[in-house]
Amino acid sequence: MGADGSRPTDSRTEMREAGIGPIGSGAAGAADGREALAIGPIGSGVAGAADGREAPTIGVLALQGGFAAHARMLHRLGAGVVEVRVPADLQALDGLVIPGGESTTMTLGIEREGLAEPIRRLAQAGTPILGSCAGLIMLDREHLGAMDILAARNAFGRQLRSFEADIEVRGLDGPPLRGIFIRAPWIAEHGDTVEILAEVDGHPVAARQGDIIAVAFHSELSDDDRVHRLLLAAVDRRREHSRAAGAGAGG
Ligand code: GLN
Repeated sequence: MGADGSRPTDSRTEMREAGIGPIGSGAAGAADGREALAIGPIGSGVAGAADGREAPTIGVLALQGGFAAHARMLHRLGAGVVEVRVPADLQALDGLVIPGGESTTMTLGIEREGLAEPIRRLAQAGTPILGSCAGLIMLDREHLGAMDILAARNAFGRQLRSFEADIEVRGLDGPPLRGIFIRAPWIAEHGDTVEILAEVDGHPVAARQGDIIAVAFHSELSDDDRVHRLLLAAVDRRREHSRAAGAGAGG
């Protein structure tokens, strides 16, 4: 514990290892995460076990950046995880996570693999998506255009490249959430249909537009899984909805 109550930099170290930096630097951070990663739905998922339903399958964009920690957290919450590297990996997903990393590198990877259009289609079809940090940037008007927001990169400035802050996030029960910000963006502009969920120093750092959720911090690097639960709750609602619609159509 630091004098200000902040935690030591273990999470940042993990983030650095997990790929803030050039492609390939993710390997160190991903190594242990990959081992724990079941590809495809896991039948034993807690989400599905209680009521006999299958666990949801969540894709985690794994071109670059901190995808392994997201995958671990989703697994802990009972979801099946698919690492997304090519368009075919997007088939049959119930939700998608776009992790933090480096948005320029991620953009190049998305273009190289032809992932932009299929991800846009997922968003348009209403598939719940969570973007964190660089993932928030990827969702904005100038990148995938999945959300009516404009991100300001590295918005907190060089002096404050990385910090932690307790933030109130609308829609989350319980105490404030410890947000881990690493060269984080903030939301500089947003349209009317975007709901701002949290702010730091008056700048929006979390928002949702329908079932697309963007956070400027690294929700995957703390033990607090409430942001991922928001995503999975949206996924559950949507599956419930399509099941009801399917039952209606069939009967
Ligand atoms: N600063 C990075 C960018 O602009 C984002 C950092 C992160 O994802 N932690 O792409």
